[in-house]
Amino acid sequence: MPEIKSYQMLIGGRWVDAADGATFVTVNPATGQPLARVPLAGDADVDAAVKAARKALPAWRSLTQAKRNEYMLRIAAAIRDNAKELATCEALEHGTPYNDAFGVCMGAAGKFEYAASIALALMGVQIPMDAGQLSYFKRGPLGVAALVIPWNFPIIMLAVKASAALAVGNTCVIKPPSVNSMTDLVFARVIQSAGLPDGVVNVITGSGETVGKSLCSHPGVDVIGFTGSSETGQNVLRYAAATVKKCVMELGGNNPVLVYPDADLDKLVSVLGFRQFNNCGQHCSGPGRYYVHEKVYDAFLRKLAAFADSIKVGDPLEEGTFMGPVVSKAQQKKVEDYVAGAVREGARVYYTREKTPEQEKGSYVMPTIVSDCTHDMTIAREEVFGPVAVVIKWKDGDDLLAMANDSPYGLCAHIWTGDIPLALKLADALEVGNVFINCQTLTEEQSWGTNVKASGLGREGGLEGLKEFTDLKEITLEY
Ligand code: NAD
Repeated sequence: MPEIKSYQMLIGGRWVDAADGATFVTVNPATGQPLARVPLAGDADVDAAVKAARKALPAWRSLTQAKRNEYMLRIAAAIRDNAKELATCEALEHGTPYNDAFGVCMGAAGKFEYAASIALALMGVQIPMDAGQLSYFKRGPLGVAALVIPWNFPIIMLAVKASAALAVGNTCVIKPPSVNSMTDLVFARVIQSAGLPDGVVNVITGSGETVGKSLCSHPGVDVIGFTGSSETGQNVLRYAAATVKKCVMELGGNNPVLVYPDADLDKLVSVLGFRQFNNCGQHCSGPGRYYVHEKVYDAFLRKLAAFADSIKVGDPLEEGTFMGPVVSKAQQKKVEDYVAGAVREGARVYYTREKTPEQEKGSYVMPTIVSDCTHDMTIAREEVFGPVAVVIKWKDGDDLLAMANDSPYGLCAHIWTGDIPLALKLADALEVGNVFINCQTLTEEQSWGTNVKASGLGREGGLEGLKEFTDLKEITLEY
């Protein structure tokens, strides 16, 4: 095995190995080669991290908001200063093309800046009472936050959660996705370089089934911010039930795209084609299943295939690469199995391409369009989470709304039509948290994601995302 660099975890302001010295190795998905050695934490490490976060809590929550904001802004500056290193880590360990990863780092800095700006505005409310009585709500942090990060965006997802939790006075224990542990340990070093008091941020690496479970079950944790699959989310809710922890959950999705005959196909393909293949389709809010009206079905497929064909797939560190590998061999197999299964069920691979011998060594999945799908095929029912467009034809008389809503998930939906009154009616009736009409996910800092059905609980991002990490205490006085 070639020489690889070792990293440590952050507990109580100290960089440490796992208590029992165990480690594991992460892999470069572009080459299949080992990349970094990181600690394989166990229960003792989780316990030490939660205790460190609890110890740091009284002082951190008592800081004035202005003082905490200074830290938030210092973290943002540190991210900007270290963006090249962070972007390189994400490119190497996650497969994000470097320029995209650099943009992600700028976005991550923006999360801390936004959280600082909005936290000042989160004020208490006074209730009108009888003479001689005073009642008011005081907003405060929940306590120790366990932040469990998914692999699809290891930097930005950590930034969204940590900025919200920290800005309003929580301390936190972060559990990175195991396959992207190095990236988040480097990110933690950058955050810590802002001079945070010891124990305010702790990071422990290891497997979800051990470290994640131990953290989410720990009685010293008050709130869980979790993003991941619905199956894992259900387990997390079970762990949290024992001590009735608040859970903010962003889970799986299978987002319908409703394409009407009057849709602007060129705009649709450039907007959603980007979303489909950028980050290898590993977007929670990306297009999951396209329902395309029969009048524009063939034209849509032709245009999407031309878009897919124009994409440069390759080394994430190479200039001009649009799409790198998916995050791991396991994910590659999962995505390719969905495509093979769809073909067995009668669908057709309308577009794909061959891998180069170099790409065969990594975990590449080629841009793929699967046409002739039906609503009840497995590929249309489940979350593929890869660079695979799943296309279903619909015709007048089909109950498109019923098909769109016939899913356990409720993350978001996309509507493409020139008929805005129709689009607004559909937006009301779709059982999802976010609806995008003739556009893609908006990335303004003020926006947030709402998760309904099996796609989660609560909101992430924006003002509402900050509120999730706070509680309102009512204080009443007679005088
Ligand atoms: P995952 O569920 O496999 O893992 C998520 C995190 O949970 C990882 O850090 C993992 O180590 C940890 N984990 C695994 N088992 C655990 C357990 N038993 N207890 C506690 N933690 C555990 O998900 P993933 O594959 O990393 O991420 C992809 C999923 O995330 C997709 O389903 C995607 O839709 C979802 N996602 C949703 C949103 C959203 O906004 N709703 C955003 C991004 C990703």
